[in-house]
Amino acid sequence: MADPGTRHFLDLDVLSDRDLDWLSARACELARGAAPASVPATVVNLFFEPSTRTRVSFELAARGLGMTVVNVELDRSSSSKGESLEDTAATLAAMGVAAIILRHPETGRCHQLARAVPAGLSLLNAGDGAGHHPSQALLDLATLMDAGIDLKGQTVAIVGDIRHSRVARSDLALFGRSGVAELRVAGPDSMLPDRLPAGVVRADSLDSAVRGAGVIVMLRVQHERMDRQAWPDPASYHRQWGLQPQHLALADPDCRVLHPGPINRGMEISGAVADGPRSLILDQVRMGVHTRMAIFEWLFSDGRLS
Ligand code: ASP
Repeated sequence: MADPGTRHFLDLDVLSDRDLDWLSARACELARGAAPASVPATVVNLFFEPSTRTRVSFELAARGLGMTVVNVELDRSSSSKGESLEDTAATLAAMGVAAIILRHPETGRCHQLARAVPAGLSLLNAGDGAGHHPSQALLDLATLMDAGIDLKGQTVAIVGDIRHSRVARSDLALFGRSGVAELRVAGPDSMLPDRLPAGVVRADSLDSAVRGAGVIVMLRVQHERMDRQAWPDPASYHRQWGLQPQHLALADPDCRVLHPGPINRGMEISGAVADGPRSLILDQVRMGVHTRMAIFEWLFSDGRLS
């Protein structure tokens, strides 16, 4: 059933370097007020995990392009009666839906579904378990570009629960393609992956991770992907791994702090840093809408790249 001509947005591997450049530049253009394309299509938000930023910004982005958006209430849909995701997708396609934006707790579920959906139905991965979150990585890149920061030659530190984070996985893939000088990760042993991508360096403390860094990405502890016994105590986690103003003094004087949200103040990041002048956290939220508009244009507009 899968149609090789139908474009999906599943992970960063589906994007060529040219696509990446186009998408990030287009997000910045849209942020500066460029007129969006008009896309007469219907999309459905199908979120099997909680979301605020991603779900709302996909919806605002779609509306910005004149698309029709339907939010499926999962507890009132047939999935609560045992319908498979494949059957739900086929049902939505039969109604003329052009794309499903899927968030799912199972790693790889979006890729699996993409192999089975009817021709003409696009899938956008809004986060699959600990797998991928490609629109988040893309909006991180667009946020830095919009702030005038070129990743080339930067030292980037990603700190926190790397093991369970789909954002870390997508950011590492994207930053690894962006000409950074050094890509570091740091976090508690239990929150680091068994293997790191080639070229990624492990720092053994927060101080050494952020020393000289121009970009610092802080991550939330993904309690929902851990046994309760493995949950760290928030105060001791903060003492060891929470980003505080004194850490910024070790970083590059122009360093910028990113966090995909939701933030846990006083755990992985202090309020003083999250609300401080180095933080781009709300810019990420703003750029999320423009980036997702660019993604819809890339998927649907006639002028899209091939
Ligand atoms: N919002 C991001 C995600 O869905 C990060 C997080 O939840 O911590 O992966």
